[in-house]
Amino acid sequence: MTDTEGSDWVSRTADEVIAEADRRAPGAPVVCASGLSPSGPIHLGNLRELMVPHLVADEIRRRGRECVHLLSWDDYDRLRRVPAGLPPSFTEHVGRPLTAVPDPDDAYDSWAERFKAPVRAAMDALGIEVREISQTAMYASGAYADAILHALDERARIDSILARYRTRPGVGDAEGTEDTGDTGPTDSAAGLYYPYRPYCHRCGRDTTQVTSYDATGALVDYACAACGHRDRVHLREDNHGKLVWKVDWPMRWAHERVMFEPFGADHSAPGSSFTVGAQVVREVFGGQPPVPLPYSFVGIRGMAKMSSSAGGVPTPADGLRILEPAVLRWLYARRLPAQSFTIDFGAEVSRLYDEWDRLAARIEAGQAQPWERDVADRATTTSRGRVAGPRRRVSFRVLASLLDVTAGDTAQVGRILAGFDDATAGDGAPDTGSQGITVADVEPRLSLARTWLAEQVPAEERTHVRTEPDSDLLASLTAEDAVSLRELTTRLTDDWTLSGLTRLVYGVPKLRAGLTVDDPATAEVKRAQRGFFRLLYRLLVGADRGPRLPTLLLALGPGRVRALLGQGDALLGERDAPHSQAGSPAGESRLTEPG
Ligand SMILES: [Zn+2]
Repeated sequence: MTDTEGSDWVSRTADEVIAEADRRAPGAPVVCASGLSPSGPIHLGNLRELMVPHLVADEIRRRGRECVHLLSWDDYDRLRRVPAGLPPSFTEHVGRPLTAVPDPDDAYDSWAERFKAPVRAAMDALGIEVREISQTAMYASGAYADAILHALDERARIDSILARYRTRPGVGDAEGTEDTGDTGPTDSAAGLYYPYRPYCHRCGRDTTQVTSYDATGALVDYACAACGHRDRVHLREDNHGKLVWKVDWPMRWAHERVMFEPFGADHSAPGSSFTVGAQVVREVFGGQPPVPLPYSFVGIRGMAKMSSSAGGVPTPADGLRILEPAVLRWLYARRLPAQSFTIDFGAEVSRLYDEWDRLAARIEAGQAQPWERDVADRATTTSRGRVAGPRRRVSFRVLASLLDVTAGDTAQVGRILAGFDDATAGDGAPDTGSQGITVADVEPRLSLARTWLAEQVPAEERTHVRTEPDSDLLASLTAEDAVSLRELTTRLTDDWTLSGLTRLVYGVPKLRAGLTVDDPATAEVKRAQRGFFRLLYRLLVGADRGPRLPTLLLALGPGRVRALLGQGDALLGERDAPHSQAGSPAGESRLTEPG
């Protein structure tokens, strides 16, 4: 993965949005908007719809300018189909507003609320602050009555705008699954096009057609195709329907004076909602379209057993069970919206955390580029304060290994961490000189590592530490191997830190070859190292490979290591690590697992 150098798209977009705001009304509050349809789980791809305007709105606030981020819930949209996993009897709700469809589990007030609730919790964790707008509430309140009447008065003009993009009936909508409500030229040819669709008073569905519109009386008559009901909507009194999507969206841009709203790249094709909406808002509502910013999709890999609740599509809540809020924010902040990216919840998670920790270390050392600092700053803080994260930084990889080799025993992990100082903790740990890390210091990362290990790492890839020494293997050691093991155990606690143990495991074969631990390895030494590592894995975990050896040694403690290596008479139960020693060399090369 490479960052896009110099791409502080957030700052550039904020410049553009502020300029647009000042062009419209100098000094007025800036309005950014997101729109989500709570028709199903809001997944990590949809999170971009929230994250992009959030980052821009937050940048505008950081500059001291008042800015509101609206989250428009399209909860007055119709239920389009029976959701996966629900019985066919749910068909009766198709065509009803999402807020009028019950939650099948009765846990929420409606189908729409079922999917809003987890998004609110995720926004809270991620530091995303919005003003929520329910379209059901807005339509029901009559807030849009004037706009609806205006759209009905201007229906011929709207029809002609839509007609510019129609090629043949039913075509011309890039987003085929959208409820475009554009009923095609057949109606308009007869002068019967209405950009408004009532929800039937009897069956609650939008399977209706307006049969007449009375501008003076502010009412429409309709007939329902589903149940045959015919009725009348008094638009100023009991509004019971909505504008079709391609008119509804631009109407809201005008109503809320939206200056910035990103959208999925599929909305930006010719004839799609945004291009049509831009004309509708100008020509019909006398408003302006928002500054556009299409964003690409977010792919997901390695999501093994997650998201049973979300039908296999991971949600922000699922992501936050493995990634710290700042890391998740970072993924969205560092990419240009036009770039798609993939979140990998498999083995890549450790590498992602490593990358994040190294960035933090470079920033602390004053070695990061300004744009890297900006992106990290947007990930860890908002204009309101810091996003929750661990007090002390211990490598995710190390924490996962500790949980792995201790079979998830928190007390044992706590004892090992107590022997850590910041130099022990791994790449990117700041050297504060303070000793003894507690479990609380590394939360929530420890819990996230636990979830990851339990849910994403297959059982056969976990480590099974030997419960007793492999006496057969120990009895068949070559003299050279035996000396190497003695060399290792003798020096084991000289520098009981991650970097100290890294030097040691690489160093023993160098010492055996007559070099010092700090000499570069020759080809011959490298071969010896590979053989030595394999021997250690066989004796410690009964396999040819495993977690990085220094991590493994730290997790086991010197007593257990000595016992399994057949050196000394320490009891297997001994786990206490000696006090760690500060001052180990920085920048030690990383240990890579032998193949
Ligand atoms: Zn009906």
